[in-house]
Amino acid sequence: MTRDQGGEQILLVDDNPTNLQVLFKTLEGSGYRLLAARDGEAALYTAKRAKPSLILLDVMMPGMDGFEVCERLKADPDTADIVVIFLSALTDSQSKVHGLAIGGVDYIAKPFQADEVLARVRTHIKLQRLERALARRNTELEDENQRILNAVEEGIFGLDAEGRVSSMNARAAELTGWPQADALGEPLLGLDLFPGDDGLNQSLSLLCEAGVSLRKNHAEMTRRDGKPLQVALSGSARSEGGAVLVLRDISEWLANQRALEQARNEMDQQRQHLAHIERLSTGGEMAAGIAHEVNQPLTAVTNYARVAHRLLADLPEEKRAKLDDVLNKIGVQAERASAVIQRMRSYVKKPSGAKSVINLNVLLKEVLALAEVDSKVNRTRVVLQAAGDLSSIYGDEVQIQQVALNLIRNAMESTAAAGSHRPVEVSTFPAGGHVCFRVRDFGLGLAREVEEQLFSPFVTSKEGGMGIGLSVSQSIMQGHGGDIRYEANPDGGAVFICEFPPCVADV
Ligand code: ADP
Repeated sequence: MTRDQGGEQILLVDDNPTNLQVLFKTLEGSGYRLLAARDGEAALYTAKRAKPSLILLDVMMPGMDGFEVCERLKADPDTADIVVIFLSALTDSQSKVHGLAIGGVDYIAKPFQADEVLARVRTHIKLQRLERALARRNTELEDENQRILNAVEEGIFGLDAEGRVSSMNARAAELTGWPQADALGEPLLGLDLFPGDDGLNQSLSLLCEAGVSLRKNHAEMTRRDGKPLQVALSGSARSEGGAVLVLRDISEWLANQRALEQARNEMDQQRQHLAHIERLSTGGEMAAGIAHEVNQPLTAVTNYARVAHRLLADLPEEKRAKLDDVLNKIGVQAERASAVIQRMRSYVKKPSGAKSVINLNVLLKEVLALAEVDSKVNRTRVVLQAAGDLSSIYGDEVQIQQVALNLIRNAMESTAAAGSHRPVEVSTFPAGGHVCFRVRDFGLGLAREVEEQLFSPFVTSKEGGMGIGLSVSQSIMQGHGGDIRYEANPDGGAVFICEFPPCVADV
């Protein structure tokens, strides 16, 4: 056994030493490493051990003939890939056909031409090399393909021409809850991913049967475990037959869309509220202007009444007494109107932000006077029970007035709406080291949905209400280091309690 330099090994099998020698001479120097065997058994043994690329195999040998050797080589996975070329004096076509049928790739008639043998060997070795490279590349590409398919976000199903699942990536199994082992080979429609969606199932049948493309931006898929999943899907025919179906989980996208929509709606609402506030604020400024303008004629009326009074001196006694009385009344009413407007002006003007020591009893008396007009409109009285020995508090007078006025107005409105005749009770008292005031009414009480979000802005049960009074009151109270809280009135109605820390100088 002689070996040439080179990669590939070729096994020469012939029972006739002269033939073996001739073959050897033919291939010597061709770059192949040569092995030799003189019978079938030796050929099988060497083939299994050395795994040559090619065997030149004599057919007619004593004992095991070349055909049987070939069959046994092909039956053994270790040697099945070895290329077999028969060499034989049997040139009838039956032998040739048989040789090729049992796995030989070629059949060379004896006596052979050296060039022909060399050329055929070279061709088959080359073919085999190419085949192996191709198979390797194929495997690499398949691996690569699988890696890509497993890395993508989408679930991908490959379908055969009958609409059965022929391949799927890991994501497809994850999204549908169908493991590959159970889904492969099943008809796609058999997975029943969209039960009840007849339109979509029809599109899927068309995709499976006729390769008709489909695209749906949103569908509810039912996973194998029965859980719903929101998906987008697209399907198209494959050029090599069958189709591909791609699924994408859009739950997160949908949730984002919903959140966006909600944020947009909220923004719209806020915008409307702001516009409303803007209008009210303009109204407030106008009211201040009106107050100023009306105040002047009122002062004039008061002055004229005084002048008329003086002129009365010339009249007879009886008439003078009557007119005197009337003019007095004019003066009193004008002064009252002027006082109401004066209070309104000082309330509407923006809070200065300046803090001072405040007597809550005095402040609330002022607020009650301010609420007089509303009290008449609502036909509801407001009574004040002021605690005698109340500590002072320190804060922004106008802001605290705003809190009290808002609570009192709410209480009056609720009392009037309930048709109650009991007055709104405002009282001051000390409690737990705090200086407190309470506004209690016997009105409607709080609606449940309002109570749940009380003090949140824009919560209102009133037709024209803005629902910012309580929320602003709360921030004012907190800004003063105090708090505001609600309690239901056991006798029906609402109770709001505001507590302040006492003024430091008083503690
Ligand atoms: P608005 O008065 O503009 O609605 P508020 O913030 O002052 O705004 O009040 C919010 C809501 O709280 C009211 O719409 C009302 O439903 C409820 N509310 C406030 N005070 C009372 C009260 N004394 N009795 C019943 N409901 C009240």
